[in-house]
Amino acid sequence: MPDARGAHAPGMIAPARTALSTWVDAAGDAGRAFLQARIRATPSGYEIRHERDVGFPLDALEISADPFAARAIAQETDDGEHRPLKTSPNMRAGWALAGLDAAALWTALDYLYPACALHWYAGGAATLRVTHWRETALRQSGMYGAVKLLDDDAVRNAARACCADVVCLRRVAWEIDEGTAMEMAEEGEPPGEARVPCPEACSIFISFARQVLKVERAPRQPVPGLVPMGSDELRQLQALVVAAGNGTLGRVREGEFDDPLNTRRIRYLAARLADAEAPPESELPCEGCPRGTPCAGCPVGAELAR
Ligand code: SF4
Repeated sequence: MPDARGAHAPGMIAPARTALSTWVDAAGDAGRAFLQARIRATPSGYEIRHERDVGFPLDALEISADPFAARAIAQETDDGEHRPLKTSPNMRAGWALAGLDAAALWTALDYLYPACALHWYAGGAATLRVTHWRETALRQSGMYGAVKLLDDDAVRNAARACCADVVCLRRVAWEIDEGTAMEMAEEGEPPGEARVPCPEACSIFISFARQVLKVERAPRQPVPGLVPMGSDELRQLQALVVAAGNGTLGRVREGEFDDPLNTRRIRYLAARLADAEAPPESELPCEGCPRGTPCAGCPVGAELAR
């Protein structure tokens, strides 16, 4: 279908720009929450700041009237870590872009959240063109070419791990293929007031899918009470428990998929473990128990007490 290829919202930038400023103007003083950004129309022009900074006076923030300053703001987290995915919910706070006209508002927002205002508008107008996973996967080459080998359930678990609100504020709009649904769990209303669809798996997802393929192709052994697991998964589980005990979880960069404590890898493991069936209740070894005092709840003790 040639008309379904190419840009995800062709020819829609002009109406989307108008719709964005109209949407913000209509909100009055409170403004609008667009993912983690708060956008307001003020007498001196549009203002954007982090949603967390809504209660601060403007002069308490690092102010700029240059929409291109948004590019640097979007690059780092509060801790100075690089942000490979601009829709991760880790945009830094403490700044304001003020005195913007409608064109500058669009430019600034597009640096903070590349293509998101356009996809928000196209999603609302039901004109967004999506590229489904099988087509995206077939286009990959070199070290990423093998991601096409992932089966449907692994792709679904990868999306649950990689694309939920806790790690990305877009909403997956692509499916496995035209006739095979992703079956993403409904997460309720998206953060903020703007639902921003994701029309195609991004480079973070592709890179994560490669890691998932390694996990899926490793030999697995049965683990009572859990799903069959590979040796890397068992080591990951061990590292997870140790890090949780040491309070060092959550300090891995989001693109470091070799690290077993990467949040998306942990989420993938959790998605796999969610399929585990509880083991059957084991028989209590009460008959002939040498204990003088029965354990609490011992069925043999209860029988003897009658
Ligand atoms: S593929 Fe997933 S992680 Fe990437 S932008 Fe889309 S929703 Fe976000």
